[in-house]
Amino acid sequence: MDLVDVESVRVARGRGDLALAPGERVLAGGTWLYSEPQPGVRGLVDLTGLGWPALEPLPDGGLRVGATCTLERLATADPAAGGHPLFAPAVDALLGSWKIHRVATVGGNICLALPAGPMTSLFAGLGADALIWMPDGGERREPVAELVTGDRTTALAPGEVLRALEVPAAALRARSALRRISLAELGRSGAVVVATVDDAGFTATVTAATPRPHRLLFPGIPTAAELADAVDAIGEWFDDPHGAPDWRHAMARLLAEELREELAA
Ligand SMILES: Cc1cc2nc3c(=O)[nH]c(=O)nc-3n(C[C@H](O)[C@H](O)[C@H](O)COP(=O)(O)OP(=O)(O)OC[C@H]3O[C@@H](n4cnc5c(N)ncnc54)[C@H](O)[C@@H]3O)c2cc1C
Repeated sequence: MDLVDVESVRVARGRGDLALAPGERVLAGGTWLYSEPQPGVRGLVDLTGLGWPALEPLPDGGLRVGATCTLERLATADPAAGGHPLFAPAVDALLGSWKIHRVATVGGNICLALPAGPMTSLFAGLGADALIWMPDGGERREPVAELVTGDRTTALAPGEVLRALEVPAAALRARSALRRISLAELGRSGAVVVATVDDAGFTATVTAATPRPHRLLFPGIPTAAELADAVDAIGEWFDDPHGAPDWRHAMARLLAEELREELAA
């Protein structure tokens, strides 16, 4: 789609280029930005010129995923170079064609903050932190599960840019699994649950069924009743044409229980 109000497109080459003028918006893959009118957007600043590495192993065994890493790059990452078994199923949860996967970015997906954002599901589920560049030159970290605050809302302040996602080493080592469901076979996700289990306990992260991620933490494998009670206590269920709140609640319960049984085995 032509963005008729856009008068300039700058390619950022360094951090100094990220000082946004009034009306400027950062551009990543552009799969959403170019998909609908953007009233008030007068200029775009392309992040892909910054050359951020897609995947960087961290000294403590964790993994940093650059915000401009494409979904395709993430899904096809070699395990020896940081790939993880949940990356491909998470990317599959975005039911765009390969053309979308080739250019859509991890950071764009999280910053867009749709409840059915599969990168939010993945990185919140793995307990990742978002590394955020602030407009004053500083940086801060925030759990991905708290960065997305609701349907199309985030905790990013004006001018802040998501630089990377940092997955802790323990989460990479944990046993993990992902379940998703949608009303239609090729429909947008109605509920996505990611679960992990390690020495620290069991975690189930509910997304897509809810406006924002909900992480349910247990010191060990919970009983079915304990897990169901925790899901019920979430108390906020998303409502749109891709699923009614009561259905999403029931599906979150079901998927969480399936994951509990799988990871307890
Ligand atoms: C056919 C189709 C199916 C889709 N299905 C889904 C789906 O199931 N779930 C879903 O969530 N989305 C879906 N989308 C929407 C969109 O394609 C994805 O969310 C995609 O991941 C967005 O990434 P992008 O890099 O293209 O973001 P862009 O379109 O470039 O940007 C999206 C928003 O994020 C901001 N942004 C981007 N990167 C950063 C950054 N690093 N820091 C701060 N702000 C940033 C931009 O300013 C913009 O507001 C779909 C789109 C299409 C066309």
